[in-house]
Amino acid sequence: MKVVVIGGGPSGFSAAMVAKKVGAEVTLIERTECLGGLGQVAGVGMPGRAAAVFAEERALGGADLVNIFEAIATHKGITVPGVGDNVTLYNVTKLDANMQKALKAAGVEFVLRKAVADAAMTNGKVEAVLLRDGTSIAGDAFVDATGAIEGPTACNELGRGCVDCVVKCPAFGAPGGIADKRARIVARLNGYGKPGVIGTSLLIPIASLSAPLQKEMTEKGYAVIPAPAGVFVDEDRMKRACMPEMFKHDVHRQNLIIVDVGGFAKSLASGGPMYASSLRSFPGLEESSVAHPLAGTMGHLVLWTTLACHDNTMKAEGFDNLFVAGNKSGPHVSLADAIVTGDLAGYNAARCGMGQRCLELPKSLMVGAFVDHVGRRMRTEEGLKRAYGVMEIEILEGLGAYRDKKDDIVGAVEKVGLKGIYKTKVYETS
Ligand SMILES: Cc1cc2nc3c(=O)[nH]c(=O)nc-3n(C[C@H](O)[C@H](O)[C@H](O)COP(=O)(O)OP(=O)(O)OC[C@H]3O[C@@H](n4cnc5c(N)ncnc54)[C@H](O)[C@@H]3O)c2cc1C
Repeated sequence: MKVVVIGGGPSGFSAAMVAKKVGAEVTLIERTECLGGLGQVAGVGMPGRAAAVFAEERALGGADLVNIFEAIATHKGITVPGVGDNVTLYNVTKLDANMQKALKAAGVEFVLRKAVADAAMTNGKVEAVLLRDGTSIAGDAFVDATGAIEGPTACNELGRGCVDCVVKCPAFGAPGGIADKRARIVARLNGYGKPGVIGTSLLIPIASLSAPLQKEMTEKGYAVIPAPAGVFVDEDRMKRACMPEMFKHDVHRQNLIIVDVGGFAKSLASGGPMYASSLRSFPGLEESSVAHPLAGTMGHLVLWTTLACHDNTMKAEGFDNLFVAGNKSGPHVSLADAIVTGDLAGYNAARCGMGQRCLELPKSLMVGAFVDHVGRRMRTEEGLKRAYGVMEIEILEGLGAYRDKKDDIVGAVEKVGLKGIYKTKVYETS
């Protein structure tokens, strides 16, 4: 029984690992030369507020990617203003190699530089994916973990053109999945009410910072640099990036906050882009440059334009055996969302391929409540005006599902009989 995962970002990796652990043969297809997707420019692997969700995910038997974040951490357990306590930052430059190593160790087959172009289907059943090189890969169940980025079309129409970002469209062609063939596709709305949102944070080589700032970054893992008087705030970019909410907070409005993600200072979402045009006016950044996007401060990639509607098992609308994960499955903000939806999609792809009924996580669990919430919100125009994060405590509290004590978290998973479910073999029904 074979599960085919399309996309080697954080959600595709998570789906592949769980599908393999529960007994499927797995092939993961990635269009670029690296695994990691947007995780290669992320770096804030575990804000402290994600701890509860990761504890639940580990009790379920998933969260394999979190082990990698811990192994390649630049700083662990630090308090970063604007992010929170107990933050783990990881070295983005080591992510691909470590993801490849983990897939190999788990026995997951993966192919790089192969892009899926289409699907061969019988009614709602995907029989095989068709690759751009003319070959095909057949499977019993599939996971579309291709992200929600269209590439040049969206960046030209909704952004500020190609900014030479980590998506690398000029080299590998535009990204895109197969859920779009049948599922209802929606887009997150930006501050102008238009579809698509422009990305935010920038990577600044630490070597381009002043010597004292370099020292501070190495020692503390972050720096908070007050905005000089009269610094230019890019209002248009803020609206396209949907950041006004975050920019309301003094710590973000009054400072540029940078974190050490392995040779790069990553500007946190708010300050970086809003002050992009004035970076060199900040003390310590007088000689700085921008390494990602390569176009520098001009703009950023456009994302969240191709979100596929799905049910609570992550099965894509209109399909019998296609599951969606990560950004493809909703306007999600973080790596944590990619991990929890990827784990569930991979698990259910394996169950589906084995002829078993798919699992819907109970809403008493944090992830079950979150998946249900986002699945419903993304079907409404109002709901598409914001993004959602499984580590947003306010959302989970509002859903009555939040708990923060490890014993309670594990107890809740045990109570619904799901302890270790993501690593318990599933058997084919004859
Ligand atoms: C600039 C930036 C900074 C961020 N920083 C953080 C952060 O610090 N912390 C955090 O928690 N979150 C952060 N995020 C969000 C986080 O990176 C994403 O939520 C996460 O990467 C989504 O994972 P994904 O697997 O769903 O999609 P992606 O990461 O987009 O991966 C999709 C993968 O699918 C591949 N693919 C696409 N089409 C095809 C095809 N046709 N065939 C084969 N493969 C294909 C792509 O090449 C890519 O590798 C950041 C996002 C951005 C844009």
